[in-house]
Order: sequence, then structure tokens, then C-alpha cells
Amino acid sequence: MPSERRLGPSLTSADVPTPLELVATEASTCTRCALSQGRTQVVFGMGDPVADLMFIGEGPGEQEDRQGLPFVGRSGQLLDRLLLEELGITREQVYIANVVKCRPPGNRDPKPEEIDACRPYLQQQLDLIHPAVVVTLGRFAAQWLLETKEGITRLRGRSYPFAHGVLIPTLHPAAALRGGAEPMGQMRADFVRAKLALIDARAAR
Ligand code: SF4
Repeated sequence: MPSERRLGPSLTSADVPTPLELVATEASTCTRCALSQGRTQVVFGMGDPVADLMFIGEGPGEQEDRQGLPFVGRSGQLLDRLLLEELGITREQVYIANVVKCRPPGNRDPKPEEIDACRPYLQQQLDLIHPAVVVTLGRFAAQWLLETKEGITRLRGRSYPFAHGVLIPTLHPAAALRGGAEPMGQMRADFVRAKLALIDARAAR
């Protein structure tokens, strides 16, 4: 039996963009903030649109801006490796996005007005994907989503109630790559924490 819902004589549900695809299309030409002027392309996000697990970083870097995908390059490779080794899954089984969708020049932190302008896109991603577990990558995303100035080393190591489930802060993969065994071990521990939170969330359904 075909999986597509028939909507008319020649139209099926496969022809109709999903709400998340509509938001991505809208974002692709966005000029709501100054970051639109320096970007190569908008990096909206990628992965399973109904994922239980979502990763949120700060903003696209040079490689991401060039390829149009979040967390590519060495940081992305580490994210992929930890997903596989600690959770036994690939990036196609989670959703990956950033707080801002366009690259801040020189990889500086996004400015408050840029975050405010971009906030509706991330909010719609959270509402439509509805992840049970959100893992933030790096200081910036954790501080912004948890509305705190606390440093990442104090924030990580536990989970926080958030949106439709819990938020688990971890380090940015680039920090783990720079820092060696200790931050790498902390990231692994946070990924295990995310795995256990996913098991809890699924058991509670
Ligand atoms: S960062 Fe967000 S709000 Fe600013 S131009 Fe890009 S998509 Fe639009």
C-alpha cells in the first residue's frame, strides 16, 4: 500500500512541504538581521524532523557556511564519532541546528539583536520536532537557552527541565578537540547522560 496520502486526483502528501520544510524555505532568504550580509548561505539544520534527540550549537562556522550544513569539519566528525560510540546512532537519526542560522563574521558570538531576530526559527524547530532531549554544544547555546551567565564547566554534568523534556549541556566539540583527554571524557559522559535521558523519556510514553 502506498505510504503517501492522496490529496486529490494527482496530488499526494509527498508533494506538499512539511511545516518544517516551509520554515526552512522561509529562512533560506531571510534578511532579518545583519548576519545575512556576510553569509554564503543559511544553515537551517539537518536530520530527522521527528527526532527525540536534538543538538543545538551557537552558529555556523566557515565550513558550515560553505556547505550549508551544521557541524561539518573536524567538530562534526567528533560529533558523529561520539554519537556512534556512545549512542550507537548516526547524525541522520538526530536533528542538529544552531541558535543563529547565519555565520557571524570571524566566528564571533552572535549579538543580542541577531539572536532575537533568529529566535523564531529555533523556536519553530523545537515546536515542530518536539525533541525529548536537547543537548547544547558549547557555552553560548547553553547559557542562552538556560538564560544564565554560568560557565559551561559549572553548567554541564546534569540535566535541566526544558521545552518538551530536558536539556543536557555539553562542551563544544572544538573545545574537546583542543583540550585533550579530560574534556573528551566529559563530553562522553554527557552523551551517556543524553542516552539515559532518552531511555527515560521513551519509557514514560
Ligand atoms: S541569522 Fe537568522 S535572523 Fe539573521 S539573517 Fe540569518 S536566518 Fe535571518
